[in-house]
Amino acid sequence: MSVRRTLPHKRIRTVGAWCFVDHFGPDDVTMSVPPHPHTGLQAVSWLFAGEVEHRDSLGSWQRARAGELNLMTAGHGIAHSEYSVGEGPLHGAQLWVALTDEVRDRAPAFAHHADLPVVEDGGMRAVVIVGEFAEAVSPAAVYSPLVGAQIEVTEDVVVPVEPDFEYAVLAVDADVTVAGEPVPRGALQYLGWGRDHVGLRAESGTRVLLLGGEPLAEDLLMWWNFVGRTHDEIVRAREEWEAGSDRFGVVAGDPNPRLPAPGLPTVVLKPRPSRR
Ligand code: MN
Repeated sequence: MSVRRTLPHKRIRTVGAWCFVDHFGPDDVTMSVPPHPHTGLQAVSWLFAGEVEHRDSLGSWQRARAGELNLMTAGHGIAHSEYSVGEGPLHGAQLWVALTDEVRDRAPAFAHHADLPVVEDGGMRAVVIVGEFAEAVSPAAVYSPLVGAQIEVTEDVVVPVEPDFEYAVLAVDADVTVAGEPVPRGALQYLGWGRDHVGLRAESGTRVLLLGGEPLAEDLLMWWNFVGRTHDEIVRAREEWEAGSDRFGVVAGDPNPRLPAPGLPTVVLKPRPSRR
């Protein structure tokens, strides 16, 4: 499966609390991700086409189709697996939101949201996946001021945004002009902060993801599937996963062997600033 990872980027590591953006498909392929752990993040699974089945160590078992949100809050620790189901092309995004220091050790949780708010207005149809956009608020639980919205451009449109947020736009289906700049399909255009609107121009029916939030005031240490702050806590999370600790639990009903953690590098891992 072809996956385009646009965040973290060498120079820009977060956009608001968004710290990871993978965009995959559309491809006639299967997705198969056996049980693996996470800490310190929320995983936002969002499909543009296809269907995926999620299982986790809380006992959740949930299918999600295009337009439905699976939101997994890892907090102190969770394990999960994801497999595509059914026929036809798979097209989607796997996004992570970093949990702030205050909440990152909270208990894990999982929620499915099939009925998200839709904003239809002057040239667009927007689904508010998380946070708030154009005065519509997603019911999904998040822990810092942010937004994730799928916007379908129906004609040239100017969308309202928050000056205090920084933003990026992912061109999902086709090339898009974002705030006057050409953005090729699959690219993530970083917009910075200080704007109150963003112009979008594309062929009618083209979808983008608008991701934004208050700039994160914390330096993250991301390694494998863990979002932490210090080398020692990453080492501990890895050891606890390898040891089959209760911290991550067991993904009941998943017949596949769990993913082993890769070896740690020989250097001391350090948190990285949001941008340089
Ligand atoms: Mn995962």
